[in-house]
Amino acid sequence: MSVLDRFLRYVQIDTRADESSSSCPSTPGQLTLLTLLAEELRGIGLTEVSLDANGYLMATIPSTIDRTVPTIGVIAHVDTSPEMPGAGVKPLVHREWDGRDIVLPDDPTAILRVADQPELAAQIGHDIVTASGTTLLGADDKAGVAAIVEAAAHLVAHPEISHGTIRIGFSPDEEIGRGANHFDVTQFGARCAYTLDGGRCGELEFESFSADAMRVTFIGFNTHPGYAKGRMVNAVKAAARFIDRLPHDRISPETTDGYEGYVHPYQVDASVDRTSVRVLLRDFVTAGLREKQLVVEGVAKQVAADTGTRIEIDVQEQYRNMREVLDQHPEVVDRARKAIRRAGLSPIEKPIRGGTDGSRLSFMGLPTPNLFTGEHNFHSRLEWTSRQDLEKAVEVIVQLARVWAE
Ligand SMILES: [Zn+2]
Repeated sequence: MSVLDRFLRYVQIDTRADESSSSCPSTPGQLTLLTLLAEELRGIGLTEVSLDANGYLMATIPSTIDRTVPTIGVIAHVDTSPEMPGAGVKPLVHREWDGRDIVLPDDPTAILRVADQPELAAQIGHDIVTASGTTLLGADDKAGVAAIVEAAAHLVAHPEISHGTIRIGFSPDEEIGRGANHFDVTQFGARCAYTLDGGRCGELEFESFSADAMRVTFIGFNTHPGYAKGRMVNAVKAAARFIDRLPHDRISPETTDGYEGYVHPYQVDASVDRTSVRVLLRDFVTAGLREKQLVVEGVAKQVAADTGTRIEIDVQEQYRNMREVLDQHPEVVDRARKAIRRAGLSPIEKPIRGGTDGSRLSFMGLPTPNLFTGEHNFHSRLEWTSRQDLEKAVEVIVQLARVWAE
């Protein structure tokens, strides 16, 4: 069995996460895949294979050396994005791809155009894997799952490779921000870990946004609109004015990249009486979140004064830039660089304009940067990966195991 075979099997199991569900995992398909993975890991010969009721699967690749070296972990998530259909995924392998645009058969408007996809254009001759046009592929993050299982099988089959204890963690519901919620760092028992949940071959990510979520609620006064003169205060109109006055040409997702943060109104629950606007705050510097919060509050207060509404403001911490933790453990990132180079690649280091489970896990005491697995166009029906990228991800995991034992 190859890493590609594993990947093609995993993506056909519907593990789409569901934000509206309060159970953990949020959908039963995730448990179906986790149960299959638990059996597979036992079959490979891993020890301490445990799958808990919340859908966290852990296992151990036993050490092959006598001396004690740090235990490291590798982690991937089994769920897929709720933004796209994940049932009935039909993976297609375009063997030795010839460089022509790829038209996905179940929806001829879904076309991977080489001109729009420089990363794809660099993969002529590789075996490209896509979905069929109506669903996502699920390389995010079943590419990571497949790479980890294959690396485990390889290490068990090659006891001559010197490595310490390696812990494996498969978690649910990353895509809805709950992946770290029930992750038992103590039970995992590793000094550090690596999520396998990244893009291009060679990518190493150890900086993420710091993130807060704000809810700004405008409270108006509702009455029958036929008899409302001088009495009605319309919270819908106040919220519309508020959104319109938020910065357009700066600190917005549409106008920023690199290391710039933003404020992002993304959801509105509206009625005349009460309208809430949900706003995401993002910045690579945690202190910068406070400045952005003040910008939003300033606009909200001004609008409330202008419209005669009242406001309620609620701010929730979401996650913090993992670099704040990883800077205290430089060897964790250094050894990842070394493993990537030994796999014949140059490390590509760039900040994640989002968060990962690693952002949360790092602050829970498990320093966890992110490694590539060859996910491209994730959360899209144009998602793709390649067999060659998957194989490189496996190689990096094996090299990482070696580097930590040196
Ligand atoms: Zn992911």
